[in-house]
Amino acid sequence: MRPAILFPLFAESRSLAGIGPKFERLIAKAAGPRLVDLIFAPPVGVIDRRYRPSIAAAEPGRIATLTVTVQSHLPARDRRQPMRVRCTDDSGTIDLVYFHPHKDYIERQLPPSQTRVISGRVEHFNGRVQMAHPDYVLSVNEAATMPAIEPVYRLTEGLSQKIMGRAVRAALERVPQLPEWNDAHFLRARGWTSFNEALAALHAPRGEAELSALTPARARLAYDELLANQLALIMMRERLRGRKGRVVVGDGRLRRKAVAALPFSLTPAQLAATAEIDADMASPLRMLRLLQGDVGSGKTVIAMLALLSAVEAGMQGAFMAPTELLARQHMGALAAMAQAAGIRLALLTGRERGAARHTLLSALKSQDIDIVVGTHALFSEEVAFADLGLAVIDEQHRFGVHQRMQLQGKGHAPVDVLVMTATPIPRTLALTAYGDMDVTRLTGRPPGRKPVDTRVLSAERLDEVVSHLRRAITAGARAYWVCPLIEESENSDLAAAEARYAMLKNALGAATVGLVHGRLKTAERDATMAAFKSGEIKLVVATTVIEVGVDVPQATIMVVEHAERFGLAQLHQLRGRVGRGSGKSTCLLVYHGPLGEIARQRLKVLRESDDGFVIAEEDLRLRGAGELLGVRQSGLADFRLAELPVHGELLAAAHDDARLIYAKDPQLKSARGTALRVLLYLFGRDEAARYLTTG
Ligand code: ADP
Ligand code: MG
Repeated sequence: MRPAILFPLFAESRSLAGIGPKFERLIAKAAGPRLVDLIFAPPVGVIDRRYRPSIAAAEPGRIATLTVTVQSHLPARDRRQPMRVRCTDDSGTIDLVYFHPHKDYIERQLPPSQTRVISGRVEHFNGRVQMAHPDYVLSVNEAATMPAIEPVYRLTEGLSQKIMGRAVRAALERVPQLPEWNDAHFLRARGWTSFNEALAALHAPRGEAELSALTPARARLAYDELLANQLALIMMRERLRGRKGRVVVGDGRLRRKAVAALPFSLTPAQLAATAEIDADMASPLRMLRLLQGDVGSGKTVIAMLALLSAVEAGMQGAFMAPTELLARQHMGALAAMAQAAGIRLALLTGRERGAARHTLLSALKSQDIDIVVGTHALFSEEVAFADLGLAVIDEQHRFGVHQRMQLQGKGHAPVDVLVMTATPIPRTLALTAYGDMDVTRLTGRPPGRKPVDTRVLSAERLDEVVSHLRRAITAGARAYWVCPLIEESENSDLAAAEARYAMLKNALGAATVGLVHGRLKTAERDATMAAFKSGEIKLVVATTVIEVGVDVPQATIMVVEHAERFGLAQLHQLRGRVGRGSGKSTCLLVYHGPLGEIARQRLKVLRESDDGFVIAEEDLRLRGAGELLGVRQSGLADFRLAELPVHGELLAAAHDDARLIYAKDPQLKSARGTALRVLLYLFGRDEAARYLTTG
């Protein structure tokens, strides 16, 4: 249970004075629904009100604080015109401009002949100096209450800085004095203050420089966040591992047959990965291993060998793919090996229904099926195995830590788990997202894979791209054309893709081009992809990356439009869809310019490297970790204060600290342990904290 001391912070922002349902919704969008989200929203800028020029000297465009005398009120001539309040000082005249004015209020605030201190942005308009809707209008006595420097927060449409700032200040007042969860020596060595002081400092930057992620206050808070993350991962992992697993050892008789049937021999990297997995499965502890490898690096074979090992040991295996199409594709890839080994392989997705589904389910229960391939349907309540020994999850970064936990919790028997991801993750990130797993990296590609010729070009040259495509397709090539998806406006994306589809049909012939997008029914999508695979159509226009897992070795051209909008990892994955067959492949990254410096560098990385791990490290260097994969649920992006490219060293320290804490006090019962429980809940690591016994 969440410690009582944190209750005030988990109240909703509506509980603050002046925040009603409308602002609550906007604040939730900008920062989050609870007070804790407000206090952990770091300022993104400052407003400096220390610039105090005379009216004549005030630079237009700058925030200035002026001392003026009110002269007269000039009412609006009609409803579209603003009301003006003319003011002066010794140097000149300024008009305070109010659109849709509350007249009484303004008259009360700015009585003629009174002196007022005003602060806001100075503008020049039609030869006059003016200030629209000043941020502050104060009497000389009140002027001292105006902050010299104010933090600026990230907003959303309809939410003003004034409301957001007020909400954050009010939330900060509700922060209880929290116990210290960090080691006193460590804090002293780093020169860090208490959590409460650090939080106050975070929201009171004394200038631009203090917005940096490197200030001691921010570093301390980032460390707290990372420590909560690392401690939670270690606790979850140890709990799963602590649960005894089964010894799964095959005798190799099925594997030998399956391997003999492969048209290639396994690479050293594949053999090494298989050896690691074998050792895990053979150990009496439960396996929780992540197999990381580029698209096309040959993970599927490795998974199949592990599954066969489970079957040799008299158990069953399950292979779960993120989409139905990918499940079918895996099924196809595994069928030859299954046949050679003489085992029973079946497919279970949402599409198998009625009697067929019933038969399948009972065959699984009676162990008349050895290996089942499917979607998440595999983990639904109705599916029961006779004896599941290994679950392989091909996640393509679609599941987060949390979901993985759920899956593992499902089996009654302690099932070994192998997760595969095609997203190479930098070491620092792997620690935060997959700290609960052992990691195998499959580096290098299978032999025979040709590098893809990658070119970056402006959309102004789209005509050239199309004529290149026309020539290539006439010569028998097959190509993908990817249009980006921007989550907020699926409709307009779809419209863009449909327009592009129409254009390409027109240019290349209607019968040659197909369109695939997320709104299509699975069957339609599959039909189009099947037609592409069989060569019936030559070009597939796709709105999203949903189908990136498809394997069509004959495809040799990948066009990505608005390449500047994709993450590097995504682009690398897309590119991995070509270069799979014997033909020479090309990837055309089309950007809609002008390109910023970072975007230019990012595309350059892609042109120069085809090593997913190198690309991932560069991506991390060039972008924030939060943006890295573009997906929050990946579990990589949920830091609010820590910035991994900057705080990598803190992460390593937090990792060591967490291990030490866990080794000494796994149930967090000591005084520091009690404080650490507060930390876990403060950063929303309830999942991990729930494993602790109460008291
Ligand atoms: P991943 O799942 O890692 O994206 P796959 O397992 O689908 O990659 O492998 C991609 C392709 O490479 C498949 O067609 C597979 O048959 C082939 N392949 C796998 N291992 C080897 C190897 N050792 N030598 C040659 N080709 C291989
Ligand atoms: Mg694969």
